[in-house]
Amino acid sequence: MIPFEKALNLVIIYTPTLPSYKKDIYEINSEILAENIRAKVDLPAFSNSAMDGFALRAEDTRSVPAPFKIKGCIRAGDTPSVKVGKGEACKIMTGAPLPVGADAVIMVEDTEEDKTEVLIKKSMKKWENIRLKGEEIKKGRLALKTGTCLNPAAVGFLSAMGWGKVRVFRAPRVALLFTGSELVRPGRKLEAGKIWESNSALLNAVLAEVNIKPIFLGIAKDNMADLEERIREGLKSSDVLLISGGISVGEYDLVQEILLKLGIQKIFWRAAIKPGKPTFFGRKGNTLVFGLPGNPASVLVTYLQFVRPAIQKMKGQKDMLLEEREAILEEKLKKKPGRAHFLRGVFQEKNGTAFVKSAGLQYSHILESFSKANCLIFLEEGKKFFKSGERVKIQILPWK
Ligand code: AMP
Ligand code: MG
Repeated sequence: MIPFEKALNLVIIYTPTLPSYKKDIYEINSEILAENIRAKVDLPAFSNSAMDGFALRAEDTRSVPAPFKIKGCIRAGDTPSVKVGKGEACKIMTGAPLPVGADAVIMVEDTEEDKTEVLIKKSMKKWENIRLKGEEIKKGRLALKTGTCLNPAAVGFLSAMGWGKVRVFRAPRVALLFTGSELVRPGRKLEAGKIWESNSALLNAVLAEVNIKPIFLGIAKDNMADLEERIREGLKSSDVLLISGGISVGEYDLVQEILLKLGIQKIFWRAAIKPGKPTFFGRKGNTLVFGLPGNPASVLVTYLQFVRPAIQKMKGQKDMLLEEREAILEEKLKKKPGRAHFLRGVFQEKNGTAFVKSAGLQYSHILESFSKANCLIFLEEGKKFFKSGERVKIQILPWK
């Protein structure tokens, strides 16, 4: 058994960031940018109007109201040849290039148009209602750094700067294998002694949070031939192979034997955590292999502690770990020493301080309490007693 921090560290050390490739910006889904993006041109590329109104010289509006001579009209997309002189105003639309000579735009609501003249009713300041060339970003400047997560606004910003494709880190292909002769697909009839299989829907849902659509390798019976065939298939098709169940010490826990037979390098087996002790981590070539315990709450805890950080690292994400904070325990807790515990908890914020309590039963086969939790309470390995009012570390669950 290795301590939790050591196990996590090994996962991070052995996980590579995947290669990058050029991706169409219409296909971007929160990927991580793998190149520095510099502005190709000034943004805006030319000074233009922020309003529908009249372009004029601010100094001519010192004593208003005053009539100005209308000199043409500029629409968005035009290339104007008009020049605005003293006492003149040019009709202009939002986004249209500013004509030579003008240094302010008065909004249409502050004017009264009358055929060839317009009454200007408000004094203007220089550059008022004008979007200046290069005010958003200057040509050649660093616009987005490598490592940036491409959120929707960043995608829009990239297109505004003229980028149709950008280099992003590839997301891993994640394959899922479920093991257990007792498992029946939800929706099918349940015979005596069997249970509905819940880890596939669970992992499918939690992988959506990191934008991964997994490859399903099905449900294997607890026999060598069935398991081996599916594991071989998984190794061929994935960057991350997740196997649920069959990794503990029971007579029919055959997964590890097959993994070793297939030449998977074992990096660790068994971590000093509860739930999730039997977790296996290994690799073959460029594929990472996680043998996760079969119990649903253990699957979710070990996924969050080990698999999610690995996926995040592969995708180039710098924030690999769950968000952590301190919270005050609202009840006393007790555990055996020797393993770190991850308790399903509910925290609430009161005046900037988080208060946390258990979300209910903590057995590893129970999801009811997990479904109501919003955090995991981390209880350190060596300690037995935790007093009410004591500070503990909590990890915020990455969903609402
Ligand atoms: P194992 O790790 O294979 O010994 O499984 C531990 C417990 O988790 C057993 O009670 C299994 O029936 C249960 N289990 C294993 N896989 C699944 C699954 N995919 N869905 C629901 N329960 C499971
Ligand atoms: Mg089993």
